[in-house]
Amino acid sequence: MRRLALPALFLFVLVIAPRAQQSSAPAWSANLSDIRRVATLIPGRKPLRINVLKFAESHRTKNFSVKGEPATPSVQARTVFQVVYPDGYVMVDAGMDEPMHKQIGRGAEGEPYFAEQAQQVDNALRGARSIVFTHEHGDHITGVIRTPYLAELVPKTVLTRAQVNTLETRPQFPDLKITEEQAARYHIIDYDKYMAFAPGWTLIKAAGHTPGSQMMFITLDSGREYLLIGDAAWHMDGVRKVAGKDAPWIVEDTAAVTDQLRWLNGLLTTEKNLVIVASHDDDEHKELIAKKLLGGRLE
Ligand SMILES: [Zn+2]
Repeated sequence: MRRLALPALFLFVLVIAPRAQQSSAPAWSANLSDIRRVATLIPGRKPLRINVLKFAESHRTKNFSVKGEPATPSVQARTVFQVVYPDGYVMVDAGMDEPMHKQIGRGAEGEPYFAEQAQQVDNALRGARSIVFTHEHGDHITGVIRTPYLAELVPKTVLTRAQVNTLETRPQFPDLKITEEQAARYHIIDYDKYMAFAPGWTLIKAAGHTPGSQMMFITLDSGREYLLIGDAAWHMDGVRKVAGKDAPWIVEDTAAVTDQLRWLNGLLTTEKNLVIVASHDDDEHKELIAKKLLGGRLE
C-alpha cells in the first residue's frame, strides 16, 4: 500500500494539481503584505483620522444588497470620506447633486437628500488637496462632473484611466459622460495592481463592481489600518457571508466581485487591526462612529 501511495500522490501533484490550479485561477486577487509594503513607499506623516459624511439615503430592502437575505427594510447611506493628514486632507468620493440623487433613486419615493450635508460635501471638496474615487458611479463622482465649482475641482481630481474610460464610453447615466477633451483636464493616473498614493495609502485595483473600481488601504499615524472597499459590497453582511448583490439594475463582473468578497472575508478573521469600510453600509458607519473608529463629520 505504502509503495503505491507515494507515486499516486506525485501523480496527483504533477498532473491533477496544475490543472486544478489553472481552472480555479482567480478573476481577482490581492496580497495584504504587498499592499502594506506599498503603503510605506511615500515618506511623510501618515493620516491622523478618517471621517465619513452621509448626504443622502437610498431605501432598498436588504435582499438587493446581499443575495439570499430577506426583503427587510434597509438604509443605504450615500457617503463621502475625508482622510485627514497633519497638513491637509484628501476626499474619497465627491457625492452628487439632488437631480442625480433622484435619477439614481429611479423614482423611489421619499429617499432623503440632506441639502445641508451636501453643502458640507461641496465645501470639503473645495478645501481638499485632492479628490480620489472608489469608482465611477453617479453617487460617488457627480460632485466633480456636474458642479458649480468645476474649474476649481478638476485640476485636483484624480481619476484612474479605467474610470475615465467608463465616463467617456459607457457612463452609468448620460449626464456623466465626458469628452476626451474634458477628461484631459482631470489628473489621470494609471497603474497595474497597486499604487502608492500618499503616505500610508495604497490604491488597490479592484475592477468588479465597475471597471474603474479601486479599494483604498490606509494606515493611520496611530497604526490602525483601514480598507475602504467602495461598493465591492453594499452591506458588510455581503462580506461576512460572501454573498454578492442581487440587484438587477447593476451589471458587475460577478467572478471578480466574488473573489473580492472572499478575500475581504478572510481578512475579517485574520486582521483584527484592520477596519473594513463599505461605502453604503449605514449600520456599519453608525457603529464605527460610536467606537470612534470613524469621525462622523467633515472638518
Ligand atoms: Zn455607490
